[in-house]
Amino acid sequence: MTTRLLHTRAQLRAALGNRSGEVGVVMTMGALHDGHRELIRVARRRCDVIVVTDFLNPLQFAPDEDLSRYPRTLDADLALCSEESVDVLFAPDVAEVYASGEPQVRVLAGPLGDVLEGASRPGHFDGVLTVVAKLLHITRPDVAYFGQKDAQQLLLIRRMVDDLDFPVQVVAVPTVREPSGLALSSRNGYLDEDDRVVAVVLSRSLSAAAAVAADGPVAVLTTAREVLDAQPALGLDYVALVDPITLRDVGPGFAGTALLALAAKVGRTRLIDNAEIELGSADG
Ligand code: AMP
Repeated sequence: MTTRLLHTRAQLRAALGNRSGEVGVVMTMGALHDGHRELIRVARRRCDVIVVTDFLNPLQFAPDEDLSRYPRTLDADLALCSEESVDVLFAPDVAEVYASGEPQVRVLAGPLGDVLEGASRPGHFDGVLTVVAKLLHITRPDVAYFGQKDAQQLLLIRRMVDDLDFPVQVVAVPTVREPSGLALSSRNGYLDEDDRVVAVVLSRSLSAAAAVAADGPVAVLTTAREVLDAQPALGLDYVALVDPITLRDVGPGFAGTALLALAAKVGRTRLIDNAEIELGSADG
């Protein structure tokens, strides 16, 4: 099936106006890979109409970040969408999305947006939530699919949908990884062979930590740190073991599901990864 490439709200409304059945949306920044493909496949199993959005949102990038060098591969993105029987690839430009210029009214992520990624990227999640809110209004889906790869983003989108009563169901899709364990990311294209050897340590630390889950939270976090610290070429930003709902650090004695989240620089490239860990409380 050939996916229709559309650039404006008017085109989108004309294309979707008379479609019936459930509409699913997969929001992306383009440079599509097999992680995005998995979101589309999960959506395809349920929804009658699939819209993929392809929009590099300037609002969520700080001036010193990689907006200008972020990969843009629209032709390949369209081909992937056609392979996956996506109905519409919606690729608006900045002026189409922010038709009135820089938005004066924005969605604020609040305290959950100030920790982990938010501590390193101030204002990032305000930019994310503002564009997600806009794209939900523009595409009007019944279901929206997001990756667990961006666990904090997923949590904040769920909170926005609940707190502000957006009429959409949010579905989470597990992280897709390379055989090495490296989580797929559009930013992996920045990595050379040497970088990849270093980057694999992120997922390796998560697996090593998960393997000692029965020993409790202190052991989990210590193990993750040891694996990360053993790779001197890695520029660790943070590694944290947190409650997946409050994002507060879990301490000794915590039992249940915790989120082990980390971010690190490999060369100039900032990567994130995470895993949900079922904790016993053995070190409590
Ligand atoms: P991005 O284009 O990086 O903004 O990602 C668009 C969507 O795809 C987000 O919901 C991401 O969480 C999700 N995603 C990105 N990488 C992966 C991956 N490796 N596995 C699953 N979902 C992913």
